[in-house]
Amino acid sequence: MTKNIILLPGDGIGPEVTAEAKKALISVAKKFGHDFKFKTLKIGGASIDEFNNPLTDETIKACKKADAVLLGAVGGPKWDNIEPHLRPEQGLLKIRKDLGLFANIRPIRLFASLKDTCPLRAEFIKSGIDFIVVRELTGGIYFGDKLTKRLDNDKMWAADTLAYNEDEIARIGKIAFSIAKNRNKTLCSIDKANVLDSSKLWRKIMDKLANSKEFKDVKLTHMYVDNAAMQLIKNPSQFDVIVTENMFGDILSDEASALVGSLGLMPSSSVGTSHFGLYEPISGSAPDIAGKNIANPIGAILSASMMLRHSFNLEQEAYAIEVAVENVLASGIRTADIASDSFVPVNTAQMGSAVAEFIAAQL
Ligand code: NAD
Repeated sequence: MTKNIILLPGDGIGPEVTAEAKKALISVAKKFGHDFKFKTLKIGGASIDEFNNPLTDETIKACKKADAVLLGAVGGPKWDNIEPHLRPEQGLLKIRKDLGLFANIRPIRLFASLKDTCPLRAEFIKSGIDFIVVRELTGGIYFGDKLTKRLDNDKMWAADTLAYNEDEIARIGKIAFSIAKNRNKTLCSIDKANVLDSSKLWRKIMDKLANSKEFKDVKLTHMYVDNAAMQLIKNPSQFDVIVTENMFGDILSDEASALVGSLGLMPSSSVGTSHFGLYEPISGSAPDIAGKNIANPIGAILSASMMLRHSFNLEQEAYAIEVAVENVLASGIRTADIASDSFVPVNTAQMGSAVAEFIAAQL
């Protein structure tokens, strides 16, 4: 199978971890006889430095033409004080919006061999941690109207708007219900319907989907976001699929990532209604460790696995990457973020090579 993949390594650790995801994809291509063609383009600070623009029209055009996009991370202190519309993060928000990628899917899984990295006591994780957060990605407060002004009393005032229409809620709901239907048929919708009108509408539309013929076998529950933040710590095993709006999902999925050892382990896919997708580890550019070859590339590598499954329908190949990651971790190979005292950490490239080699060696 021939596939065109755009790599957008971005900033900080982005290029380091993307290189390791590419290594895994090359290993898969060799092993299974595929032809993955890669083209590397700029986004975020790297694009600002070259084009004075965090995401150029040419880059968007190339992404639209490709079969899938693999992104590293954007941002860093170098670009923190530039005009808000030129910041690296704008490149990320724009690419998601322009490519119609309204659903961010974040699997949260505690690997058996990494139980020691979970900050919760063993009694809280007896049943394991394995759930998926489906986060709305192109609506809500990050995209709503904003206003900052000076009041008559000379004090500053600022507002952001959290708005959703019925269709935006229904389309993310359908994706979450479909995922739940293929897993344990339970879906927890998280909102703040006791206070927010947007959440009341969210809940109404989720209930409507739960009562539809297509999804009536999925059991829907609702939870307030403040309770969800607590339940993730008290009893993470209760969750199987979570669906929530943009900002709640942003915060809850970062919280959830702490449960499985490190932000660096976490993959994600951003998808719309087609097979096209943008795949990225959920972490940022980690300026504190960038350039040191110590970042954990597993989030990026597992994002590549999500790409193989969702965009290319290559189930066996996606599984080969997951098995490789699982085995490499089980064999005691750890980057610094997940290495407790008894481990000598490997660097980013060594971890990537270990995964690529395991893929190649699989029967
Ligand atoms: P961050 O995710 O970059 O880092 C948080 C902490 O996690 C840091 O201590 C970092 O060292 C660690 N970490 C992250 N990824 C790691 C990995 N792969 N291996 C080991 N450790 C890892 O968050 P931040 O520090 O809040 O943000 C840094 C920059 O990234 C900011 O400019 C922010 O705007 C940007 N950001 C970008 C994205 C994205 O590109 N998707 C997401 C979040 C933040």
